[in-house]
Amino acid sequence: MRLSRSFLPTLKENPAEAQIVSHRLMLRAGLVRQTASGIYAWLPAGLKVLRNISQIVREEQDSIGAQEVLMPTLQSADLWKRSGRYDAYGPEMLRIQDRHKRELLYGPTNEEMITDLFGQTVKSYKELPQVLYHIQWKFRDEMRPRFGVMRGREFLMKDAYSFDLDYASAVASYQRMMLAYLRTFQRLGVRAVPMRADTGPIGGELSHEFLILAPTGESGVFYDAALEDQDWLDEPVDVNSPLALETFYKRVTTPYAATDEMHDTTAWDAVPEERRREGRGVEVGHIFHFGTKYTKAMDISVSAPDGSQVYPEMGSYGIGVSRLAGAIIEASHDENGIIWPDAVAPFKAAILNLKVGDETCDAVCERIYNVDTEAFLYDDRTDRAGAKFADADLMGHPWQIVVGPRSAKEGRVELKRRATGERHDLSVDDALALVLAG
Ligand code: ATP
Ligand code: MG
Repeated sequence: MRLSRSFLPTLKENPAEAQIVSHRLMLRAGLVRQTASGIYAWLPAGLKVLRNISQIVREEQDSIGAQEVLMPTLQSADLWKRSGRYDAYGPEMLRIQDRHKRELLYGPTNEEMITDLFGQTVKSYKELPQVLYHIQWKFRDEMRPRFGVMRGREFLMKDAYSFDLDYASAVASYQRMMLAYLRTFQRLGVRAVPMRADTGPIGGELSHEFLILAPTGESGVFYDAALEDQDWLDEPVDVNSPLALETFYKRVTTPYAATDEMHDTTAWDAVPEERRREGRGVEVGHIFHFGTKYTKAMDISVSAPDGSQVYPEMGSYGIGVSRLAGAIIEASHDENGIIWPDAVAPFKAAILNLKVGDETCDAVCERIYNVDTEAFLYDDRTDRAGAKFADADLMGHPWQIVVGPRSAKEGRVELKRRATGERHDLSVDDALALVLAG
């Protein structure tokens, strides 16, 4: 993309309405704009980030055999009356009436709809297990939308739902999802720690929230420092092997990690003092086994091997895709701007032409730009160099390819790595090879 012709409205000043750094930077880097309280438009660079995150989430869901569907944002109130949640959900649910006075709602989540779709299709244990997911906008009329896309009212979520014949198989589905989540966050370039979460009135211990540690997070967290040095994904885990999964799951969930609400002081005292860590975190994912709650309430059963009818065991598994855009920035920035992890960056590199109009500079820049016009943001504006450096740092491209008149004559450029500030004087080809490898 050519910066001179792009819709990338960067701001020099900090917007007054933004209280936390990721919100400030998302506005300043021209990623989003608010259109109503807690509702955002995603501009070209922001949309690329959202798509990059979604794609990684999708690939990791697919890799454990989950199948993608796309359910609508609007749902019939009747569905929710069948589960009993229509009245229970409260004012966070946006309720709508159509011209025939039929009651609809903008979905805050999809348990009812997926259970109904499942019931229309699957009749026998032979078709189990099933894991279905979609990446779709949700609406929750949050009391206090804040922190930009981190707590919006309309937000993008990946939600997956598993259906199993019995508890043991549901646990395996849960463990596979845990594995997929850790791989997802690792690929996104962030560390999200799984913490035991509240299972509410249904009970059972199978619920984990995934939190990115950041001082501005809304949840207080307590964890064993053993979690910091643990590389969970060192060895490949075979998802077809229940034994390998079980071992992996134990390793990941054994060290103490809990949010404020789940903090158990007795267990905490058992963690050696030098390994106790307290901090704050942003919830970016949540996995939950809830058994037959919905299949029972909505009377959706399948035939079992012995001919009886049984209610399938379910789990649901959310990832806050749009919240992640903010949470990643919260975890990865400095005083000059965003530092995008390579996998989610809207552009691999910015090409900074320090002397637009200079024949050699222009030619070198055009040559680099044409290698991949999608991956490169070409700063071809006639602005002074300082403004270009500042904008590139603000937008957080992993690399900056700096093209000045003197070095361009020798076919050389300066390559800067945003995360470390390291600079290298390289030939155009060597610089391209480095950038495109990352
Ligand atoms: P929170 O405790 O932050 O309100 P939640 O527990 O209500 O979230 P879930 O129902 O578990 O949320 O939804 C799955 C994921 O969707 C969350 O882990 C979070 O990443 C994301 N999410 C939930 N609410 C919002 C929101 N208002 N804005 C952006 N993302 C959200
Ligand atoms: Mg949650």
